[in-house]
Amino acid sequence: MMSTKYRIPFEGQVMSVSGSVSPDLLEVVDAHNHLWIEALKDGSPNSPTLMEYEQILAELREYRQAGGKTIVDCQPGGCGRNGMKLLQLSQESDVIVIASTGFHRRIYYPSSWWLWEAGSEQIARYFIDEVLQGLEETRRLPKPVKAGLIKCACESALRDTPQKVLEAAALAAAELGVCVEVHTEKGADAEAILNFFIRNGVRPNQVVLCHMDKVPDFVLHRNLAQAGAILEYDTFYRPKYSPDTHVWPLIEKMVTNGFDQSVAIATDMAEAAMWKHIRRGPGLIGLLTVIRSHLEEMRVGITSIQNMMGRNIANRLAGIA
Ligand SMILES: [Zn+2]
Repeated sequence: MMSTKYRIPFEGQVMSVSGSVSPDLLEVVDAHNHLWIEALKDGSPNSPTLMEYEQILAELREYRQAGGKTIVDCQPGGCGRNGMKLLQLSQESDVIVIASTGFHRRIYYPSSWWLWEAGSEQIARYFIDEVLQGLEETRRLPKPVKAGLIKCACESALRDTPQKVLEAAALAAAELGVCVEVHTEKGADAEAILNFFIRNGVRPNQVVLCHMDKVPDFVLHRNLAQAGAILEYDTFYRPKYSPDTHVWPLIEKMVTNGFDQSVAIATDMAEAAMWKHIRRGPGLIGLLTVIRSHLEEMRVGITSIQNMMGRNIANRLAGIA
């Protein structure tokens, strides 16, 4: 393994599907989303698909026109990611897209996916190569699409998460210094997850813990923020998680207690039902029309809004603490 620990390969820059960009250019960022999920031949019946190219493109253009600038795509390889589609969607819409390597929950993969049977060094090498050389499916392009972050997925209990794959993600993240976005099952075991990464050489300020607003416990959020993690919130469109009594008051509390640099806002629209042009959901544009408008009404302050809606995740992707 290389010895450039804690030095991000695209130091100070963010790696988008079209190449490196300054974090200042990312502006409004959806910190966790899914723009394309391909149906696989022997794919899992659990995996949603998003393959309505024209509708997705129309929605991206609408997002861009409303002031959205960047989207972090959290679909790793092997469960429906298609780096070529991400590149094409980004180029045609002028939305900056950041692609992921890493792994999702096992239920989303074909049973034959090699990762589950491999050793952690081999898996780490695969993640590192996707960051340094490009996503596997794009290596034949003249300019392969590189991953800008490592996405991981933990089960409700950390011990039930495939250990070698998780170790590999930590190895790769420690080696490269890149951002790691970690799916939590409704916030479960978040402190244990953060500690796992820290024990394995990852800096807490590389870590983004996802879906944390599903457990809107301020003390937990404060502790994780103080430890250096960014907390990603995305239940705004999900009535079953009671956003009015959970995520919105939580944001207010985080901001008034000075943690506006520890929150990243996202929409996580893996399901077609959430897309406006596919199924009349709130859509990508909801980040601006629903979420930003609500934040403005809350009077949390423009700087806090900018931090939570882009600057925090942009800096983390660029390796800026
Ligand atoms: Zn997701």
